[in-house]
Amino acid sequence: MTESFDIAILGGGLAGLSVLYHLERAGKLAGKSIVLVDPEGKKAAHDRSWSFWEKTPGPFEELVYHRWPQVTVDNQDQHLLCDIGPYEYKLIRSTEFYAHVNAVLEGIEGLTRVKARAEDVRAVGEEVHFAAGGRSYVAGLAFSSLPLHLRPRQIAAPYLDQHFRGWFIQTEEDTFTPDRAALMDFRTPQHGESRFFYVMPFSKREALVEIAIFSNQHLETATYDQLIKTYIYDYWTQGSYTITHREDGNIPMTTYPFPLRDRNLIYIGMRGGATRPSTGYTFWALQRQLQQLAQTFPELTDLRPWSRKHLLYDATLLRILQDQRLAGDQLFVGLFANNPPDRVLAFLNGETSLLQELQLMATTDITTFGPTFVQELWRKLGA
Ligand SMILES: Cc1cc2nc3c(=O)[nH]c(=O)nc-3n(C[C@H](O)[C@H](O)[C@H](O)COP(=O)(O)OP(=O)(O)OC[C@H]3O[C@@H](n4cnc5c(N)ncnc54)[C@H](O)[C@@H]3O)c2cc1C
Repeated sequence: MTESFDIAILGGGLAGLSVLYHLERAGKLAGKSIVLVDPEGKKAAHDRSWSFWEKTPGPFEELVYHRWPQVTVDNQDQHLLCDIGPYEYKLIRSTEFYAHVNAVLEGIEGLTRVKARAEDVRAVGEEVHFAAGGRSYVAGLAFSSLPLHLRPRQIAAPYLDQHFRGWFIQTEEDTFTPDRAALMDFRTPQHGESRFFYVMPFSKREALVEIAIFSNQHLETATYDQLIKTYIYDYWTQGSYTITHREDGNIPMTTYPFPLRDRNLIYIGMRGGATRPSTGYTFWALQRQLQQLAQTFPELTDLRPWSRKHLLYDATLLRILQDQRLAGDQLFVGLFANNPPDRVLAFLNGETSLLQELQLMATTDITTFGPTFVQELWRKLGA
């Protein structure tokens, strides 16, 4: 027998939960039957820590675990301390996010949860068909954030993985400045890639120290661990500390043209291209996009998480990094060294005006950026 629903949410991670949350908050789910499908069921774990920056309080302000008004950006030659006002750098842990969102979802009368993998997902006429846990389902509309496994060598768009591993540590001595996060610290051997650390202190003795590498060659877990250990020893503390939690993962960074929809099957989250290709940051733009979607629902007019203009800039940046036309530390540290920090952060959030983008471009190495920009523009026009 086939079960029918008005709306199916396929994947109950950040995007699936957020779209339901914003639709519920916008009062768009009254009288609707909804099925939420995820093999992990109701999530609760600390499996992600989402950091992002924004100028005003966001939709999950009360969940912010820590915030930083200052960030540092470093390579071997330069140390930049940036006051990032009007922005604040913030971190939300998945633990608080899942608990808060799940509590709101409890209030949705027509919601059914299915703990199973969604399979064989197809748009058929005006409906979306799929199977889960041995049953068949049909929905009038579906939002899917099921992962899309891209093969970098088979796509023309620039592609770099951002693979990372982080340690939450507790030191025995005062070590950190709690209102100052290291946004990008390139003081680690680069090996022809872009390798940098994030350091997010929560107190003088607690921080998340994470190495991120932009490259398509992943390392053994023990190698990331050794790099983190050396970095902490070289730049933070030679005293003892305990590791209280670890996180790792991979974020594909690409301007691959992710399809936004197939009739009534709407792609959201990383699957729908919500990740900023040049940085891997996803949380803030995803919330912006899904909040807007909820406001205009059931109209689904503009589903693009990023403007075409910003995707073209990103194709340029990614191509430069992928082909090593410029070293990542020079590129990113150069941007912060030669621009007000809020201009760089606005650009990376896709919030800049054309004038600000021109100002930013004027500070880059035009002999590298100019031809790469034209090449990527040409590629796009020819696509
Ligand atoms: C460890 C980690 C840290 C990150 N940190 C940041 C950060 O600091 N800032 C930032 O902006 N971005 C960050 N990101 C990137 C991005 O924000 C997250 O990956 C985010 O969770 C993406 O949301 P999503 O809904 O697309 O994917 P997910 O949150 O991964 O959700 C996908 C869901 O689909 C489910 N699923 C998979 N297969 C099926 C199936 N067949 N049927 C049904 N369900 C299925 C999964 O169980 C999962 O719940 C991070 C990513 C990772 C991995």
